Amino acid sequence: MQRYDNYINGQWQAAASFAPNINPSDTSDVIGEYAQADAEQMKQAIAAAKAAFKTWSRSGAQQRHDVLDAIGNEILARKEEIGTLLAREEGKTLAEGIGETVRAGQIFKFFAGEALRTGGEWLPSVRPGVEVEIIREPLGVIGLITPWNFPIAIPAWKIAPALCYGNAVIFKPAELTPGCAWVLAEIISRTALPPGAFNLVMGPGSVVGQLMTQSPAVTAISFTGSVSTGRSILQATAERGAKVQLEMGGKNPLVVLDDADLDVAVNCAINGSYYSTGQRCTASSRIIVTDGIHDRFVAAMQARLATLKIGQALDKSTDIGPVVDQRQLEQNQRYIDQCLQEGGTLAFGGESIRCETPGFFMQPALFVDTTPEMTINREEVFGPVATVIRVKDYDEALAVANATEMGLAAGICTTSLKHATHFKRHAEAGMVMVNLPTAGVDYHVPFGGRKASSYGSREQGRYAQEFYTTVKTSYQSA
Ligand code: NAD
Repeated sequence: MQRYDNYINGQWQAAASFAPNINPSDTSDVIGEYAQADAEQMKQAIAAAKAAFKTWSRSGAQQRHDVLDAIGNEILARKEEIGTLLAREEGKTLAEGIGETVRAGQIFKFFAGEALRTGGEWLPSVRPGVEVEIIREPLGVIGLITPWNFPIAIPAWKIAPALCYGNAVIFKPAELTPGCAWVLAEIISRTALPPGAFNLVMGPGSVVGQLMTQSPAVTAISFTGSVSTGRSILQATAERGAKVQLEMGGKNPLVVLDDADLDVAVNCAINGSYYSTGQRCTASSRIIVTDGIHDRFVAAMQARLATLKIGQALDKSTDIGPVVDQRQLEQNQRYIDQCLQEGGTLAFGGESIRCETPGFFMQPALFVDTTPEMTINREEVFGPVATVIRVKDYDEALAVANATEMGLAAGICTTSLKHATHFKRHAEAGMVMVNLPTAGVDYHVPFGGRKASSYGSREQGRYAQEFYTTVKTSYQSA
């Protein structure tokens, strides 16, 4: 079995223990064994990053551009191979895996361009004979902690801006998907980055993640994952005043109004609720449907769901791959059972299914007769499970859409300009989609949410610099 080491201070380093990376479409397929760092390795990575920051923070724009561009080019050139690994270790379909890999390459190339466009401002002072200059400077050592559900795109949208603006990086990927993280590190290891400017430290969040959040040498933490882990990171970093950016869960609504184009609404719901096995923070898990279209919409959803093929991620005919692991499958099942107990009606699916290989497969589930108060409509399931909440009109739909602690994405399907415009203004979410699935975003514009979904400044696009830099104002006597 091939073993994959950590990458610390420009060196590949084995660890005292290794953990298997298991294919959720076929649990007999072990992709490799991946190093599990201990506290000592994390300390080495922090020290190396601290030292490398001195060099990398003074690197020129061309050098930063070239490093990021080279990473982006190699990811794009190897999209089939990396996309296949992604589908194999995470369980999204091959097409989705390749699509996510392409996105990662595009993100590196976007920030390669941004490296050439960093600028500042020059202003006359209010005092005669004084000039004011405002520039952005890198922060220092940045700890990046990522979840398993986008194993290459999320690391890319953190690593690329961190390096672009001159920071040193310690990257801790999710335990379930170290494969893409390792490939990314291998690509980065062959660029002209100084040793220590990028470190890959794989291992359990409770050990290496926690050490990273507690170390005073780590200036900032960018985290994507669950609300509970995000909040514990916030507490751990509050005392020392570290800069923190948290992207967490979602309970995203998709509103379907009477005047919606039925095909558009069904396409948005099927894609937004079930693609990538529903394991997207932007998935539409609450479908809020007005009376006049409710029965037609549910019937059309049942018909479409019946056509979806559930199966192995690498089978090209598969529409929905497996759930990521046994724990997540059990969590999905618990929410389904609880919804049934609380009075919901299963309109489709919900059961575990067997395929040719041992894996974590389930039929996507659609509930009807649900109310906003039910557990399933308040908590994130993070699986191919969606509910329909029936409402009388647009006003009630908007109120229900906003009746959640989360605020990542919100969608509406309507042909009414008035309602679409009103929804864009009044949905309490960081991202709003009109006649589009709630999941699926661009990489050159800000990404993030409100309320319990996010904390700190936005990720992606030019807005990323808000987190990865600090502003300096200089005054000079002319
Ligand atoms: P998770 O919170 O369990 O783990 C995320 C990361 O945190 C992992 O790398 C894990 O090892 C690490 N970690 C765990 N405990 C830690 C600790 N005490 N200190 C430091 N790090 C620690 O989340 P997950 O199960 O990997 O991902 C699923 C969650 O991620 C869902 O809630 C989903 O909504 C969310 N998510 C959010 C976004 C977004 O942008 N808002 C995107 C994707 C996923």
